[in-house]
Amino acid sequence: MGKKTIYDKSVPGRRGIRFPKPEVPETPLPDALLRADLPLPEVSENEVIRHFTKLSQLNHGVDIGFYPLGSCTMKYNPKVNEAAARLHGFSQIHPLQPEETVQGALHLMYQLQEHLAEIGGFAGVTLQPAAGAHGELTGILMVKKYHEVNGEPHRNKILVPDSAHGTNPATSAMSGFIVKEIPSDERGNVDLEALKAECDETLAGFMLTNPNTLGLFDENVCDIAAIVHQAGGLMYGDGANMNALLGIAKPGEFGVDIMHYNLHKTFSTPHGGGGPGSGPVGVVEKLVDFLPGPVVVMEQDDSGFDFPYYYFATPKHSIGRMKSFHGQFGVMVRAYTYILMHGPDGLREVGELAVLNANYLMHKLKGVYRLPYDRVCMHEFVLEGRWPEVEDIHALDISKRLMDFGFHPPTNYFPLIVREALMIEPTETETKETLDAFADAMLQIAEEAKTNPDLLHSAPHNTPIGRLDEVHAAKNLILCCGLPDSYSD
Ligand SMILES: *Cc1c(COP(=O)(O)O)cnc(C)c1O
Repeated sequence: MGKKTIYDKSVPGRRGIRFPKPEVPETPLPDALLRADLPLPEVSENEVIRHFTKLSQLNHGVDIGFYPLGSCTMKYNPKVNEAAARLHGFSQIHPLQPEETVQGALHLMYQLQEHLAEIGGFAGVTLQPAAGAHGELTGILMVKKYHEVNGEPHRNKILVPDSAHGTNPATSAMSGFIVKEIPSDERGNVDLEALKAECDETLAGFMLTNPNTLGLFDENVCDIAAIVHQAGGLMYGDGANMNALLGIAKPGEFGVDIMHYNLHKTFSTPHGGGGPGSGPVGVVEKLVDFLPGPVVVMEQDDSGFDFPYYYFATPKHSIGRMKSFHGQFGVMVRAYTYILMHGPDGLREVGELAVLNANYLMHKLKGVYRLPYDRVCMHEFVLEGRWPEVEDIHALDISKRLMDFGFHPPTNYFPLIVREALMIEPTETETKETLDAFADAMLQIAEEAKTNPDLLHSAPHNTPIGRLDEVHAAKNLILCCGLPDSYSD
């Protein structure tokens, strides 16, 4: 028996739904719109439910177990967010409805803009971008337009440190800039001398991931911003790692001019598997006029009439629209709920616990695994997944073996400046018992690497599917997935 897809279960005449009789006269459809080559599976409702429930159980998810995938902030997503997003007043409205009929939704968007601005220390926020990388594109296009409007279109260079997230250089190149890499120093900070050497009249901006992908807060961030500003450049902050800073530090106050947030990471909306995400962008005062339009604006008159009125408006030098309609509204509702449920003190506690959990794990592991940048980490840390005495054990083998313990592996081979990198981000939502169990598994694996390396090479052993040929799997993607043979019914 091969793989069982929902099509294999199809039996002519079975059905899961009966449509009501139409209330309007039937109209024949134009032949050109009808397809004979679109066979749909004929299955009953319970067959469909069982099939997809089984498929869902083959996956690891944050509702199933620990998911320390560095840089991705796979925190638990409180279910109250889902309840809020499903409220009919939010889920049943249409983006083309007149403004006066969706004042509640506009109120939420306005408040979310304000809360994010407060959290990041910015003067204005757009909610349009659909992901972190999309927020970067939005921000860098604003950098471009800012220099154009200021009569400096020759500024065509963006600097990116070697500890940046890979989307940063990609975004800069996509926006038509020349990208120059700046090395890190031995403490994992941006090398200031190398930075100064690149700061000339062609400098458009600098993209800083802070905390960077080593999980380290750049100790010279204020100096970096001063050097970049002195040369006439703008500071872009990659705020995907805001989890470590919530309620503690505001990037807008340490020199960042533009920053994206990842609502689907820091503000706990489900992610992985492709979306939907949301990557709002905050800016300082001098860039507010460049935000994509429209943004939500509030009008409150002095008449004593209590309710403000909200409407959409496009800023004066706007780079234009970055997303159809108004962005990922459902994600905004989840993030807004999360922010209100925590309040300012609760958000600060999120940041503190994210940092505490990462440091706790780092200390449990660092004697056994090499820690190339050994200093207090923020929300994550990066270990080397290798030992000189066992040459044929790689980060990948350690990660595959972790799956046997029911844990999602850390991020592998990133950042590139650490050999055999294992990037671990526990997040604040995990218990001490979970962190201890993960540390125990990591320590046991380190022992196995030396005493029984084949156990690692052949892992995972307990998962529905064993070790994959990853290159083959990536190059020959099969999207119509069925149940493996072991799941016979
Ligand atoms: C996740 C991440 C991004 C990209 O965000 P997406 O929503 O996946 O596009 C950018 N920078 C950093 C540091 C990240 O962790």
